[in-house]
Amino acid sequence: MKVVIVGGGPSGLYLGLLLKRRAPEWQVDVIEQNSPDATFGFGVVLADTGLLQLQNADEASYQALCEEMRYNDRQIIVQREVPIEIELNIKGGAIPRLKLLQVLRGEAMKADVRIHFGERIESTDDLQRLGLADADVVVGADGINSVIRRQFADSFGTTQTSLTNHFAWFGTKRVFESPALVFRKYAGGHFVAHYYAYSDEMSTFVAECDDATWHNFGLAEMTDDERQALFERIFAPELAGQGLISNKSIWREFPVIRNAHWVCGRHVLIGDALASAHFSIGSGTRIAMTDASALADALLRCEGDVAAGLAAFESNHAPQKAKLIAASERSYMWYEDIAKWMEAYTPEEFVYEFMTRTGRVDEERLRKEFPTLMQRLSAASRVT
Ligand SMILES: Cc1cc2nc3c(=O)[nH]c(=O)nc-3n(C[C@H](O)[C@H](O)[C@H](O)COP(=O)(O)OP(=O)(O)OC[C@H]3O[C@@H](n4cnc5c(N)ncnc54)[C@H](O)[C@@H]3O)c2cc1C
Repeated sequence: MKVVIVGGGPSGLYLGLLLKRRAPEWQVDVIEQNSPDATFGFGVVLADTGLLQLQNADEASYQALCEEMRYNDRQIIVQREVPIEIELNIKGGAIPRLKLLQVLRGEAMKADVRIHFGERIESTDDLQRLGLADADVVVGADGINSVIRRQFADSFGTTQTSLTNHFAWFGTKRVFESPALVFRKYAGGHFVAHYYAYSDEMSTFVAECDDATWHNFGLAEMTDDERQALFERIFAPELAGQGLISNKSIWREFPVIRNAHWVCGRHVLIGDALASAHFSIGSGTRIAMTDASALADALLRCEGDVAAGLAAFESNHAPQKAKLIAASERSYMWYEDIAKWMEAYTPEEFVYEFMTRTGRVDEERLRKEFPTLMQRLSAASRVT
């Protein structure tokens, strides 16, 4: 079997290594537009249940990732300048995105996956140039702006809309003690900082504001440097003298990408190319890697019947994926109304609403997993 994977991000590399580990006789090629030492963003979080799934799929890469992660046992949520601490009773942590890719790449190369760096594909016609036109399967693991998805958009039934909040993904040399979410009202605007340390030198810092704030503060007309300076001013107490660092940190409205069908002939989508997961659930990477694992299982079981394998991937994996994507949707809808929640709720009510926003955590689970938090919330607010 010949498998071509377009995109050497987490989903593409993970798929490559899972396939070659279990079917060494297959030919697996990953095509990546960037060089090995380049990526977007800074650090990402890989949390509990997702990690367990990765362990079940491949112990070696799981162990290698665990060695590079920085673990946290608490998160702080700040609303109306009141910090509320949440003890996290879970195994999970943060890792530099580049390190994550290096680990996966190392494991993939050990398994003899062929990785073509610095090769951008504009359409499947370009596979000819690389001598890969005869692939049995072509996987679009090429992220939010997937060219494979665009080429077959009608067959995939692609829809794309945009949220209205504005965000940018920065880093900072301030190494935060605990991950935090700071919701700050500043001169009438509603601003959010999502931050966490992912190494001994660096933290991720995602800056966000709602659309009304964006326009009222003239952010639309500002340069990127001016926007960055504004956020540095608003979150100066947290940054404690450090600035924000840009890595092509463009301001965006989050694109919501969905596909009615996952497969078109020999082409199949996984990860963000298939369905973009909002950063506020901190799970896009593991959702993408779980797609890779499900596709690997389906292809390895299909005994050469690619059409059956791809169909099995979609029908078996769609229910699990739908649950996670629904959680992402409920989370971003909550953030879209952030000004309303910041105005309406006391800090305790706010934390309760935040924790239950995706519908995956109910009050019973909160009581079981976060007893100290729930005692505080019960004592201080309408939360019973
Ligand atoms: C601000 C922000 C914070 C986030 N934080 C987290 C977090 O804490 N935890 C988490 O789990 N997730 C997080 N995510 C989400 C996560 O980054 C994505 O869900 C994840 O990277 C998806 O993986 P992927 O492999 O599908 O796509 P990508 O990571 O986008 O990889 C796609 C790859 O394909 C390559 N490529 C694209 N087009 C081509 C082409 N035409 N030819 C060749 N190569 C191509 C790209 O260079 C890239 O390497 C965050 C996202 C954002 C925006």
